[in-house]
Amino acid sequence: MSTTEQRVAIVTGAARGIGAATAVRLAAEGRAVAVLDLDEAACADTVEKITKAGGRAIAVGADVSDSEQVAAAVAKVVEELGAPTILVNNAGVLRDNLLFKMSDSDWDTVVNVHLRGAFVMARACQKHMVDAGFGRIVNLSSSSALGNRGQANYSAVKAGLQGFTKTLAIELGKFGVTANAVAPGFIATDMTAATAARVGMGFEDFKAAAATQIPVQRVGEVEDVANAIAFFTGDAAGFVSGQVMYVAGGPLN
Ligand code: NAP
Repeated sequence: MSTTEQRVAIVTGAARGIGAATAVRLAAEGRAVAVLDLDEAACADTVEKITKAGGRAIAVGADVSDSEQVAAAVAKVVEELGAPTILVNNAGVLRDNLLFKMSDSDWDTVVNVHLRGAFVMARACQKHMVDAGFGRIVNLSSSSALGNRGQANYSAVKAGLQGFTKTLAIELGKFGVTANAVAPGFIATDMTAATAARVGMGFEDFKAAAATQIPVQRVGEVEDVANAIAFFTGDAAGFVSGQVMYVAGGPLN
């Protein structure tokens, strides 16, 4: 690939939240962006934001946990935008419950979307990255990887994604492909609004309470995460791989 050719990025779960902000940000960095989500029609707003700003984007409908849908989605991206060399595994769901109330389905759904989804997407895209001698994979982990009440399923997959990321970094480094994880703390999105509803709090009160526990004294915005992802997916970040960056307004360990 010539250095002037536009790189193609796939952002999963990009109809809203962190994924939508990331798609918009990567387009602003000059990437052509496949805005992938469960429902293709739901991607229209993100695509419109990008194209109105002069960028290139398409909507792609797929369930990331389904390898056949993922294969079809990646083929569509290759056909309509070009070979994807940037992948952001962002699609996610919550099925929070205390362990004694957590169902098999709560566990399996979360494992399938986050872990199987990231695996299937990365496997489908790696060939294009290896062929190009360039690739950037970013997986969305979470501060919950360190443990969080009511999230045995979610904390397990977010910790699992850190191990997955480090292994991809080791396997794919010699092909010019980096893999990193971004682990957000509390970010204001529909996902955290749903958590507020689950614990019976208004979202504004929930955010205000969370902010008092965060060193910078505010909750995160989607752009805070998009900024970190823009760094990891940049051409200049080729010597940074296998890292986990907490984007949480303070230190976590
Ligand atoms: P969000 O607002 O709930 O958006 C998630 C998106 O993923 C939705 O558009 C959803 O589609 C899509 N999605 C769900 N299952 C999918 C599947 N099987 N295939 C394709 N797309 C699917 O979430 P968010 O808050 O932006 O979070 C984005 C990522 O950051 C997630 O991985 C999350 O775990 C992680 N994270 C978030 C926070 C936070 O505080 N918000 C903190 C740490 C980590 P539907 O609308 O159709 O369900």
